[in-house]
Amino acid sequence: MGSVLLKNIAVEEVASNILIEQGRISNVVPADVDVAVSDDAEVVDCTGKAALPGLVNMHTHAGMSMMRGLGEDVSFHEWIDRIWQVESKIDEEYVYHATKVACLEMIKTGTTTFNDHYWHMPMGHKAAIELGLRPVLAYVILDHNDPQEAERQKVQCQEMYQEAMNWADKSQFVIAIHAIYSVSEPLMLWAVDFARERGLKIHIHLSETRKEIEDCKAQHGGLSPVEYLDSLGVLGDDVIAAHTLWLSENDIRILGERHVTCVHNVNSNLKLASGYKFLYTELRDAGANICLGTDGCASSNNLDMFETIKTSAMIQKAWRDDPSVMTLAELKDMATVNAGKALGQNIGTIEEGAEADILIIDTENYNFLSPGSFLANMIYSAHSDCVESVICKGKFIMRQRVVPGEKEIIAEARKVLKKIL
Ligand SMILES: [Zn+2]
Repeated sequence: MGSVLLKNIAVEEVASNILIEQGRISNVVPADVDVAVSDDAEVVDCTGKAALPGLVNMHTHAGMSMMRGLGEDVSFHEWIDRIWQVESKIDEEYVYHATKVACLEMIKTGTTTFNDHYWHMPMGHKAAIELGLRPVLAYVILDHNDPQEAERQKVQCQEMYQEAMNWADKSQFVIAIHAIYSVSEPLMLWAVDFARERGLKIHIHLSETRKEIEDCKAQHGGLSPVEYLDSLGVLGDDVIAAHTLWLSENDIRILGERHVTCVHNVNSNLKLASGYKFLYTELRDAGANICLGTDGCASSNNLDMFETIKTSAMIQKAWRDDPSVMTLAELKDMATVNAGKALGQNIGTIEEGAEADILIIDTENYNFLSPGSFLANMIYSAHSDCVESVICKGKFIMRQRVVPGEKEIIAEARKVLKKIL
């Protein structure tokens, strides 16, 4: 694998040279320090550019990229019923093309790793690897309390895990438990054991709506979803919980003590009117690890993490009546290094030894024409179209906003759209 030298690029406002070798960042030095490179190294002059770690979308459903606008202006439960109807029509071919569309959008908007929660996982893997991304893919557990379906999924999960172990270009394999209201308790416990025996992360939708809380309390002796999962021994630092929107003080204490990763999906929550008071400060102070996600395109309509970052901050500041919450540095961490910590991967930072997932940001435009800090201008002024080039696993996967094969990806995907009509 060839090496790449990014010359004179701003890293946290310091003009720097970044050397990438064997897919990793091997050196970061001030721009006036020479870096020895091999003869075949690609040297890229990045004057006028800034580097950011590739963003990590910690909760999404990539295969829903062609379900935008299918459930607008209806309640969460009406929406999910509609989506499940649509999803009953999809197959492997559909998911492959839909995931390619999602990957294309993620690259264009600066995401290099996504924590996916979708069907037909081998297709998600194939699509993401073809486009050069770093996917985290799940076998999804969802039995709707049907014992036969539970048995089928147990067998399929084991088979898929075996298959994934043999993939040449490995994706991180995780276990996704859809939610407490859609997965039976025995299957959920089986899935947790399966994951822990193999050191796999567990990805679950948790405390997303008020109805989920009410139904759980009615069914489980007054326990909230967080208390219920904790009573079963499910919660731990290997759990990535999407939403965690409706929480009591005791729930926050539990999530903190168990060092659960809580993923805020602001746009999805806002549009489905699930809620907007994500208890960021309380969860952080209690010890939870906080990350950001877009959720799937059926609810958030796009996969743009820069939009997610900005909206998360705006809503948090507004409902708390406190502009000092969710600082620029915290926003950046939530979209990068906190995710690396949750996934157990050395991603989300630009430093020696880290995986080389780097965004090259064009700062020679009006969004950055101010003495304001780079992060302030990037998060509040610019949009994802300032992402000029993207490096993932040490390779350019977008240059000057061109992703190889973009037109073909769209054209091929259009052909399978009819499957969900
Ligand atoms: Zn979701």
